[in-house]
Amino acid sequence: MTGLVYKSTGSWYLVKTEEGNVYECRIKGKFRIKGIKSTNPVAVGDVVDFDLDETADTVTGLIHTIHERKNYIVRKSVNLSKQVHIIASNIDKLFLLVTINNPPTTTSFIDRFLVTAEAYGVEAVLVFNKIDTFNDDMLDEQLYLQFIYNRIGYKCLRVSAASGKGIDELKAEMKDCVSMFSGHSGVGKSTLVNALQPGLDLKTKEISEQHSQGQHTTTFAEMFDLDFGAKIIDTPGIRGFGIVDMEKDELGDYFPEFFALKDQCKFNNCLHKEEPHCAVKEALENDEIAWSRYQNYLKMLEGDEEHYRSDIYADGKNNDNEE
Ligand code: GDP
Ligand code: ZN
Repeated sequence: MTGLVYKSTGSWYLVKTEEGNVYECRIKGKFRIKGIKSTNPVAVGDVVDFDLDETADTVTGLIHTIHERKNYIVRKSVNLSKQVHIIASNIDKLFLLVTINNPPTTTSFIDRFLVTAEAYGVEAVLVFNKIDTFNDDMLDEQLYLQFIYNRIGYKCLRVSAASGKGIDELKAEMKDCVSMFSGHSGVGKSTLVNALQPGLDLKTKEISEQHSQGQHTTTFAEMFDLDFGAKIIDTPGIRGFGIVDMEKDELGDYFPEFFALKDQCKFNNCLHKEEPHCAVKEALENDEIAWSRYQNYLKMLEGDEEHYRSDIYADGKNNDNEE
């Protein structure tokens, strides 16, 4: 039988088949997945093959195969530094909830999120929330950000989780996809989820706040089916997911507008800093690349590796080195 992993609690997995039957499954033997040293062999979002064990009192399953993942996101395991914990796999869209000033979401935070999404190979969508509270200045700022990010190719949506404005467009964007939501605490994630499906009541907020001191509490990601034909992965208690191993000369590849120009730089290993005949810097001078993007790129480039490895937080707690 084949199914999709909806929940993992360490040794048990809830697996749902296409027919909609849910089985509690265990893993058969040991899984070694090439190239990943992970603390958990099977993750939420995995497609697995399993056999039923009907000898027990209740029917359970034994997972014997994991289908190849199209992507997966991880956080570092603190205790076993070489190992990672796979938070979720096979994600179609990472949504970042952005507020202009309540709380402020900096372009630095946005850009690091986008770099992470690029590195994981997952489509990222920006969702500007609380548009009902905008005055003219906030509207200008939001439209400017939308211009910058649209130009690079990122979809931008404008919503009010409180009034319901824009929610239908967001639903259309989520339909038939597996989605995850991120953003600073207070941007409106809980309100938004409630607007998408009243009563769903994801635990993101309560648990992450309750355990905000203990980062690695034993809470696990979980997938939910929404009524309008979408799936959402909730990550209670999971504070960070980050990029594992990125070289400095790779960073520019995760800025799509830089990557597109890379071939036109004089040096093929151009870091777009001091090098002569750099197409990225020329585009910057011509206002074809946003200064904020370039500055955030430099910040990430110059920061220590930790800086851009693991400082995007699923619950928005931003303990990075920003002033
Ligand atoms: P979370 O920490 O991301 O889950 O944020 P919450 O959903 O708890 O929202 C934080 C605060 O912002 C709450 O007081 C919400 O009522 C409020 N809020 C959320 N979305 C909106 C919105 O679209 N408009 C307005 N005016 N307030 C909102
Ligand atoms: Zn260059």
